[in-house]
Amino acid sequence: MTAAPDSPLATLWCPSPNREPRRGVSTPDMLILHYTGMESAEAALDWLTREEAKVSCHYLVDEEGRIAQIVAESERAWHAGQSLWAGETDLNSRSIGIEIHNPGHDFDYPAFPEAEMQAVEALCLDILARHAIAPDRVLAHSDVAPGRKRDPGEKFDWARLARKGIGLWVEPVAPGTDQGLGPGDEGESVARLQQQLHDFGYGVEVTSTYGTGLEKVVEAFQRHFRPARIDGRADLSTRETLRRLLAARSAVAGS
Ligand SMILES: [Zn+2]
Repeated sequence: MTAAPDSPLATLWCPSPNREPRRGVSTPDMLILHYTGMESAEAALDWLTREEAKVSCHYLVDEEGRIAQIVAESERAWHAGQSLWAGETDLNSRSIGIEIHNPGHDFDYPAFPEAEMQAVEALCLDILARHAIAPDRVLAHSDVAPGRKRDPGEKFDWARLARKGIGLWVEPVAPGTDQGLGPGDEGESVARLQQQLHDFGYGVEVTSTYGTGLEKVVEAFQRHFRPARIDGRADLSTRETLRRLLAARSAVAGS
């Protein structure tokens, strides 16, 4: 363990015992954002640095924008848990995890304060300057663990981060009044949706049947990319936003 934080923005260095060498990956190529889901940032810091917690992350940002580093970037922190993206399951080995303090959905889910968002923005830029992380691999915990996790949630301002060049983003298409696809639906259009979500990276199998697994993934997609309505139904707005994201990703990859 190094004796100093990797990021010059971290004003606190609180090493957690919950860390180990990265497995089969020398340098991270994903950035995963979380909320703490706890009452206070102090309680979160205490928990993340306790051996019995068996969880950690690389950075913790509090509501006033203070940044603590907990695990060195060279090491594997324990933040993603059971997760999957682009066919890979050991996301802790390939990612850097940032916990952003917010009590979360179980405790009224307040807005993320301005000072906190500024710090998150600066920290992400700092990390992205140090590691080759593609825009479409800056993700929410909910993206990689749909159904199990909701953080950092629909109040997290991904559009704002994107304006600073952090993450892949397109202006979401406004939701209309169409029913769209939903649980119980079957057929070609469901298969196409499953294929596109799979191609984007989500853990979706192409079965042509809209089951609860797909519903949870659509919810996760909406939470990140179309936060105006999170209902697990693939309406035109959801499908068109996904199509535009795939196109935007190809454009980035081709440039
Ligand atoms: Zn999380």
